[in-house]
Amino acid sequence: MKILLQFPEGLKQKALEHAKALESEGNEVFISASPTFGACDLAIDEAKNLGADKLIHFGHAEFHHVDFNVEYIEYRIDAPLTLLEPSLQHISNYKKIGLVTTIQHVHQLDSIREFYEKNGKEVFIGRPYGFAKARGQILGCDIGSAASIDKDVDVHIYFGGGIFHPLGALLATTKPFLAIEPFDNRIEFIDRMRETYRKKRNGRIMASLNANNFGILLSTKNGQHNMQLAKMLKSRIEAHGFNAEILASNTFDFESINNMMEFDAFVNTACPRISIDDNDRLRKPLLSANEIMDVLRMKNELKNLQK
Ligand code: SF4
Repeated sequence: MKILLQFPEGLKQKALEHAKALESEGNEVFISASPTFGACDLAIDEAKNLGADKLIHFGHAEFHHVDFNVEYIEYRIDAPLTLLEPSLQHISNYKKIGLVTTIQHVHQLDSIREFYEKNGKEVFIGRPYGFAKARGQILGCDIGSAASIDKDVDVHIYFGGGIFHPLGALLATTKPFLAIEPFDNRIEFIDRMRETYRKKRNGRIMASLNANNFGILLSTKNGQHNMQLAKMLKSRIEAHGFNAEILASNTFDFESINNMMEFDAFVNTACPRISIDDNDRLRKPLLSANEIMDVLRMKNELKNLQK
């Protein structure tokens, strides 16, 4: 069988090992050297161009159905649970806790739940909206497991590495948010970041109020492509008397976008995290779909005031 292997950045170090194992079984193997951001970003075009029979995508669970032979190999990591005991000091004032994690540690949620229940806590584990598959699992673009239990809990606890995943959940919830990073040996409340990001959001909206020309980012990645939204936003912006063009790319290069100096602001329809995480890489504001609607409404109100 002809197989294309695709690894996210953190697992690319395992590529040779997996390729050799599959070759020893008689397969012809290729390794995708392109950057990979998630299971929203399957290398199907590369697989088709290579004439591959199958794509093996490592490190992520299925994101959405695609019309190609894709095998998903999730990576589960047993993180040490030694920080659970000291975490109790941080949540001593809270009874009801919500638990979220990434796909790598979702199999550990039962043990974590048991630990907190034995220590007198009531534990809630929410459901994702659909892109994530397991209860308690969060993705950068699916924070349903936290948002769905926000009203029930006194505090949210994220167990896992990095800030990328808990940040989305933090911004979609209202309760205190404790991050436990088992490999960095760190336990900290990250609530203060809500205010930082709220100010950034207000800043990009204000910076877009004089914009006349909008560039709408449309991704060609299979799980991020949203032509309907891009066209709808273009027609809304034009209906308000401004210019809008759709800018298509597979992986957006912010240097290239910065070269498009005729545009006064950009609107994101690709991975929703781009407008949260990558704004500082652009010279012009990069708005989410909701934010451009706020901008259009405010521009309209300003126009009416000036009449
Ligand atoms: S957060 Fe973005 S990169 Fe990650 S799975 Fe969702 S769409 Fe893909």
